[in-house]
Amino acid sequence: MNILVTGGAGYIGSHTVLSLLNNDFDVIVFDNLSNSSIESIRRVEKLTDKKVTFVKGDIQDKAALAELFCAHNIDAVIHFAALKAVGESSTMPLAYYQNNVNGSLCLLEVMATFKVKHFIFSSSATVYGGDNNVPYIETMPLGEASSPYGASKVMVERMLNDVAKADSDFRAISLRYFNPIGAHESGQIGEAPQGVPNNLLPYIAQVAVGKRKSLQVFGDDYQTLDGTCERDYLHVMDLAEGHVAALKWLNKQRGFTGVEAFNLGTGKALSVLSIIRAFEQVSQQNIRYEIGARRSGDLAAFWANADKANRLLGWQATRSLEQMIEDTWRWQVNNPEGYL
Ligand code: NAD
Ligand code: UDP
Repeated sequence: MNILVTGGAGYIGSHTVLSLLNNDFDVIVFDNLSNSSIESIRRVEKLTDKKVTFVKGDIQDKAALAELFCAHNIDAVIHFAALKAVGESSTMPLAYYQNNVNGSLCLLEVMATFKVKHFIFSSSATVYGGDNNVPYIETMPLGEASSPYGASKVMVERMLNDVAKADSDFRAISLRYFNPIGAHESGQIGEAPQGVPNNLLPYIAQVAVGKRKSLQVFGDDYQTLDGTCERDYLHVMDLAEGHVAALKWLNKQRGFTGVEAFNLGTGKALSVLSIIRAFEQVSQQNIRYEIGARRSGDLAAFWANADKANRLLGWQATRSLEQMIEDTWRWQVNNPEGYL
């Protein structure tokens, strides 16, 4: 089967491409490399001893997409390509709606033209918003997103539902990721943020390796055990395998039409301070940190109820926190400048 992976050179995309190749899918990556490097794909090819077809392009370029669908007989699309910095999305909302919403629209239009009906979407726990109780479960209504980034994910999920209502052959899955961290165990591929990292783990890793002085912990006055925010961290390889499980399920379900959402998380929440301590233990480095102000839009604590993915996809996150941190650390030490 030929799987088109948009954004496949990025952090989660590259790990998923590796899992797809190891499961004998043929992969075509379409990426504009705005937040990634072709080197990730080269390394995936080396690790798997398999070839990836790579096409550089933008999902808003419908002519380029049409050319791609013409040249390859695409069976399904996994759609990662998006801008993903929550804070940045509040300062440049139009860029987020343009890239994430219009980009998805362009992709779905070209898919419709070429009658490609299977779609897996990178959604996020952020679609539950602040008003739902934890743990989040798929039957909850989509919430009021706290950022334009979150709103763009809600909009695409809505778009998928409407496409499915209008076309009974269209079958889609929204995978709602919690907090992916870690790297492939080889230390060859991992998260390579450009500039100052927005996310916790890459920031800690850069402090540990001496690239940054100190971490700002965004608030310690939340209603949690130690006052810092709690999140459901899962290993990026577990997440990658979740995509393979979803794709296999999509291919198998004869009776299923419409859109199905699945939470991908561990079901456990960990605080910022406990992540710092675990990182210190694994890396044997002292992580300097200061308690700073709360970050706007952060919720105190959320984690997944991931029973549905377990029940229907046979998927479960299996890798431990220690493994997540060991793999992050190996990647960071081997590649202090990312893919450069
Ligand atoms: P990433 O930035 O590493 O990967 C995104 C990739 O998409 C990059 O390679 C980038 O170059 C590419 N891209 C962006 N806009 C494009 C466009 N218009 N055309 C073609 N390519 C484009 O991010 P990631 O962490 O791997 O995230 C992948 C997906 O998962 C995103 O949709 C993101 O919103 C979603 N997600 C990520 C997280 C997380 O914590 N990393 C959590 C929930 C959801
Ligand atoms: N965080 C922090 N300092 C940082 C980055 C993140 O204290 O430099 C906290 C943030 O407030 C949140 C958690 O770490 O509680 C995870 O943040 P991240 O941005 O990695 O993921 P999010 O949960 O926002 O998607």
